[in-house]
Order: sequence, then structure tokens, then C-alpha cells
Amino acid sequence: MAARENGSDRPEMTSPVLSVVVPFYNERDNVDSLFARLVPVLEETGEPWEIVCVNDGSADDTLVRLLARRAHDPRIAVVDFSRNFGKECALSAGLGQARGRAVVVLDADLQHPPEAIPALLAKWREGYEMVCAMRHARTGQGRVYRLAARLFYAIMGRVSDVAMPAEVGDFRLLDRRVVDVINAMPERSRFMKGIFSWVGFRQASVVYRQEARSSGGTKWRFLPLLKFAIDGLTAFSTFPLTVWGLIGAAVSGISFFYIFYRLIRVAFLGIDVPGYESLIVAILFLGGVQLISLGVLGSYLGRVFEEVKRRPLYIVRQVYAGPAAAEPVPGQQSVQKTS
Ligand code: UDP
Ligand code: MG
Repeated sequence: MAARENGSDRPEMTSPVLSVVVPFYNERDNVDSLFARLVPVLEETGEPWEIVCVNDGSADDTLVRLLARRAHDPRIAVVDFSRNFGKECALSAGLGQARGRAVVVLDADLQHPPEAIPALLAKWREGYEMVCAMRHARTGQGRVYRLAARLFYAIMGRVSDVAMPAEVGDFRLLDRRVVDVINAMPERSRFMKGIFSWVGFRQASVVYRQEARSSGGTKWRFLPLLKFAIDGLTAFSTFPLTVWGLIGAAVSGISFFYIFYRLIRVAFLGIDVPGYESLIVAILFLGGVQLISLGVLGSYLGRVFEEVKRRPLYIVRQVYAGPAAAEPVPGQQSVQKTS
């Protein structure tokens, strides 16, 4: 942080007012179209700006293309990860690198139209510290994906202590104050949407129309997405921990009365054919409940494990920022960054 405030290594870039953070993972075909739309919008704002691109371990030549853009315009900074760490980590790194008084977070695939940035800025100037861009419609996403997302946010809304509207993605503007708070947050598993809601501050929203992905397919696969959902749930709610206590109590209560019923039956009608079915059902059902609750405990324990390991969130191979002339040689040094 201290190094970032010391602007001496970046003479011509006197503290940008507006930073745009963009995570890139195998987005080679989107690099040029993104800058073609983003840069004019930023120029139009009339504020000094910077774009912080995070190359999240792309296997294609995304980095080369980003650096080519940077060669033309040193206001484009590039943070290169040592491997793919996931979008949430890429956002964390971008927020750590951004120096603007307002920071906009944007997807590389043009699903978040840069043209909405002036509206976000206008709200920010009114004094809002976080301006969310609300999707008008989730276009360009499959039905199953949309349904799953809806279900996830419905459950989240019920069980977690922070409000997380489904229409709000990561596309938003954050005031410097909010960015500093998020940068200082120590937790390892970054469920950004939850963190954004959790920090509070004066929030406003503007509506935009989500576009179809400009090129390539979504980077989400089913399993990572499921992990993301479980991460989100367990990071922002203890409901899964407590619900099994309730279910356990209900099951035991019911079986308690059931035992009385059996006893009375035996007393009046005698022992009938051994209660094989009831026994097996009870064993299976309780066994299932126990396994599920073990799983829930395990997922929380896993999170504790993740937190206590204190590993860095991500590893940066190289940061390309500041005047292009002072560029360090690629691949020579590796910087480890914590939060
Ligand atoms: N992304 C990333 N790391 C990943 C996956 C995605 O940095 O491991 C970036 C990706 O390049 C894009 C943004 O996150 O800029 C959103 O990804 P995607 O469009 O695949 O997600 P969706 O829009 O379907 O939620
Ligand atoms: Mg997308």
C-alpha cells in the first residue's frame, strides 16, 4: 500500500481519478474490442484514468495482447498472475493495484457495457460510495444457468445476513474508502459479491442491459460454480450449521413419540412380525442426516483450514505499471502479495 501511494515511480500518471479493474482469463479475442469501447468512454469522462488488467493465468496470448496495448498507452497497467487463481482473486489483485478515487469493476467479455460508466460516475459524484449496475436482463446466458443463479440468490437471500440482489453482478463503482476497506479484509476465500454487500456504505444503483458475451464461452464450469455457490453460502451464513440442529431435534422428537406409540401397541396387541421396515427406514434416514450434517461441518472446517493456512490469495508474476520505459524484464522477479 505504501508503495502505491508513493507515486514517484510513475511520474506522468499523477493519481488517476478513475480506475477500471478488468479480470482476463483466456480473453484474447475480447482484448481489442474491449479497449475499443472502453477507452473512448473513459476519455469522454474528462478525468485522469487508468485501466488495471489482471491476467488470471490465461493459457492463450491474452497477456501479449494486453502488453501490446500497454505499449501504446501506459495508463493501462497489467498484473500478471503466476497461474489461474479465479475471478475473485483477480478482482482482489486489481483492487489492490488500482489507485483511483473511484474504481469500476468490469468483465472483459463486454457483458458489462463500458457505456454505463458515466452513469455510475454521476451517481458517485452525488456522494454515493458504491454504485451498482443492475442488470436489466440476463441475456446471453443459458436457461439452466439463469435458473440456478435465481435459485442460489433466493436461498442466499433467505439464509445470509447480507442482501444480495440477483440482478447485481460484479459490475459496479467503488469509492476509494470502500476499496481500502476491501483491501484490508483478511479473509482468504473471496466471495466478492458478498463482500461488496457486507461492507455497506452509501449505495445506489443504475440499470443497464447485459449483453451477450462478445467472444468465447463462459469460463465457468459446473463444479467450480457449485464450489463458488457453497463458498458464498458458508462465507456469509451460518444457517447450514444451525439447520441440522433443528432437523436433528425434529427427528428425535418425532421418534420419541413413535417409540411410545410402538410400546403401547406392543402392550395391547403384542409383538407382531419383527419391525424390519421401521428399523431399516430409521437407520437409513438417520444415517443420511448424519452424513449430511458431517458434510456441512466439514465444509466449514475446510474453510477454517483455508483461513489458517494464511497462504497468499494469489501470486503475481509481474506487475506492469507506471511509465512503460521503466518496464522490468518479464519473468525475472516474482512478487508475493498477501492482501
Ligand atoms: N475470469 C477470470 N478468471 C477465471 C474465470 C473468469 O479472471 O478463472 C474473468 C473472465 O475473463 C471475465 C470475467 O471473469 O472477464 C467473467 O467471466 P465469465 O464471462 O466467464 O463469467 P460469467 O459472465 O459467465 O459470469
Ligand atoms: Mg461473462
